[in-house]
Amino acid sequence: MKTKLLFNNQPIMGKIIKIENECEDTKNFFVELPEKIPKVKAGQFVMVWVPGVDEFPIGVAGYKGNILELGIAKVGEGTTAIFNKEEGDLIGIRGFYGKGFAFRTDSIPLIIGGGFGMTPLKLLIQQIIERGYNGEIHVFEGARTKSRLMYYNWLQELHDERKIIFHVCTDDGSAGYKGFPTVDLEKFLQENDKSCVIYSAGPEKMMKIIFDMAKNYPHVKDIQMSLADRYMRCGYGLCGSCVVDPLGLRVCVDGPVFNAEQLEKIEDFGKYKRLPSGAKELI
Ligand SMILES: Cc1cc2nc3c(=O)[nH]c(=O)nc-3n(C[C@H](O)[C@H](O)[C@H](O)COP(=O)(O)OP(=O)(O)OC[C@H]3O[C@@H](n4cnc5c(N)ncnc54)[C@H](O)[C@@H]3O)c2cc1C
Repeated sequence: MKTKLLFNNQPIMGKIIKIENECEDTKNFFVELPEKIPKVKAGQFVMVWVPGVDEFPIGVAGYKGNILELGIAKVGEGTTAIFNKEEGDLIGIRGFYGKGFAFRTDSIPLIIGGGFGMTPLKLLIQQIIERGYNGEIHVFEGARTKSRLMYYNWLQELHDERKIIFHVCTDDGSAGYKGFPTVDLEKFLQENDKSCVIYSAGPEKMMKIIFDMAKNYPHVKDIQMSLADRYMRCGYGLCGSCVVDPLGLRVCVDGPVFNAEQLEKIEDFGKYKRLPSGAKELI
C-alpha cells in the first residue's frame, strides 16, 4: 500500500530545486516534494520546517505536479535561515492547512494585497484565469516603494496581456500612483455598481480599513480576507495560539480566510494579535 505522505501532520522532506529573487528581502523557493500535490485552494498554507532552527507558516503561491512554490519575506530567525539555504538543500513541509478563498463567478473579483499577503493572491489570480473566467479581474497592490512590490513584473505582464487590470501604488510614487490601494479601490466602488467581491491578504490594519470602507457599498457581495499576519504554532487547531476573540475561531483551521459575516464578528480583527505566550497586544 502506498504511504500517504502529505496531510499527516508530520513534515515530509522536500528539496529546494530553484531560488529566485522576487523583490527586496523576498525570494521565491521552488520545493520538490516526493509526491504529487493534491488540489490546493488559494489561501491555504503549509508549515515550513528549517531543521535545527524553526517551523513557520507560509502560504502557497503556486504548485505544479510535485513542485511547490513559496514566496518568503525575510523577517527574523526562521526566514533568515531559509534565505541561507541553497538549491539542493532539504526543508520539511507539513500541510496543506486552512480554509482558502471561495471564488464567486457571479461577481467581479477585486483582489487587494500588500507585502507577503500577495502569495495566496498570486495563486488565486492564477486559478481564476485558468478556470476560464472571462470577466474583469481587478488587482490592487501597494508597497512602500517599487522594489518592495511582490510579483510586480508578473502582474504587469498579465495587465499588458489584458488578463487583469492592475492598479499599482507606492508610498513614494516610484511605481503607479502615490498613495494607498484603498484610494483606487474606493474610486472603483464609487464609479461601478456591478456586483463584486473583495479578496484580500496583507497587513491587518490595511485590511480593516478596506473592510470598514467596503461594507458600506451594497454591491460588494462579500469580503474575504486572509488573517495571515498572526502567530501560529501547530497549524492544525490543537494549540490555540492563533485563536481570535470573541468566537474562539482558530485562524489555522477556521481560516486563515474569513468571510464578511465572520470578520464582522471578530472583535480582534485589526485591533489585537496574540504573542507566542498567548497574551494579546495591540496591532
Ligand atoms: C497562514 C499564514 C501564512 C503566511 N504566509 C506567508 C507567506 O506566504 N510568505 C511570508 O513571507 N510569510 C508568511 N507568513 C508569515 C510568516 O509565517 C512569518 O513571517 C514567519 O513566521 C516569521 O518567522 P521568523 O522566525 O523569520 O521571524 P521571528 O523573528 O520569529 O518573528 C518575527 C515576526 O514574525 C511573526 N511570526 C513569527 N513566528 C511566527 C509563526 N510561527 N506564525 C506566524 N507568524 C510568526 C511574528 O509577527 C513575529 O513578530 C504567514 C503567516 C501565516 C500565519
